[in-house]
Amino acid sequence: MNQDNAFPAQQQEPPGTTGRMNPEPDHGEASYVGSEKLVGYKTLVTGGDSGIGRAVAIAFAREGADVAISYLPEEELDARATQELVQAAGRRCVLLPGDLRDEATAREVAHRAAGDLGGLDVLVNNAGYQMARRESVAEVTTADLDRVLKTNLYALFWVTQAALDHLGEGSAIINNSSIQAYQPSTSLLDYAATKAAINNITVNLAAELGPRGIRVNAVAPGPIWTPLQPATQPEEKITVFGTDTPLGRAGQPAEVAPAFVYLASPVTASYVSGTVLGVTGGKPVF
Ligand code: NAD
Ligand code: MG
Repeated sequence: MNQDNAFPAQQQEPPGTTGRMNPEPDHGEASYVGSEKLVGYKTLVTGGDSGIGRAVAIAFAREGADVAISYLPEEELDARATQELVQAAGRRCVLLPGDLRDEATAREVAHRAAGDLGGLDVLVNNAGYQMARRESVAEVTTADLDRVLKTNLYALFWVTQAALDHLGEGSAIINNSSIQAYQPSTSLLDYAATKAAINNITVNLAAELGPRGIRVNAVAPGPIWTPLQPATQPEEKITVFGTDTPLGRAGQPAEVAPAFVYLASPVTASYVSGTVLGVTGGKPVF
């Protein structure tokens, strides 16, 4: 292992916050340069307060899009930091706190995003949850299952169904999958199953919505330095996080966001639907 690529030992409790991470992730604050790929677009990024979602919100805003972000109520501080970054790009940022495991809340998030922004062109189903602090299937509790399946799958259905009242010709849905869909870890077996399901759902949604001119794709990130990791992985996994990839290191949220921009924009992806784009540091996504 290259010691330069190691992270200091650290732990948080879910959902985790950006400010308690050492080092704080790079969301592209200082580096992302837009080129008018999403001018005037209205977008919703679930889990847009932190991590990959924050990097996507920044990139979308710098491409010219207004952004609504949903997040858990206890993540208000992170959400406000994302909002400031979106506003600094000259775009609107609507804050939508709420727990997506609740059906009414999940549907309301999509309807309010469209209502407050004046329409909806891009939905990013990014909110997600995992728990890796266990060693056997015997340790997977019903509470774990409820949290993982409801956050990663039920919410994706509910938010997507409600968003489809607003998405029209030329719009796009992008789901956040994972390398776990292809190379599952035993400690993440329930989470990995939801990510395989998300790939499968992506293909079916693309087939159903293609005739309406709506494209549906997924991004499959590898190990990315976000609050989810210190909040859900055991400490010994944090210190070597990402070093098992061909590139030998974890990725930053800023390195994932351009894949979402690519799939969201008709400039770059007008004929791309039903696919999964890997951003994995070299791990295979097939
Ligand atoms: P993150 O913790 O920054 O973002 C996850 C977000 O999900 C949280 O900020 C939270 O707002 C939201 N969320 C979780 N449970 C919720 C609930 N019940 N209601 C509403 N919102 C809820 O971590 P991240 O790594 O950026 O995660 C974003 C997505 O990326 C997830 O779907 C995750 O599975 C996926 N992903 C992450 C990695 C990685 O290594 N970090 C790798 C592959 C895929
Ligand atoms: Mg968060």
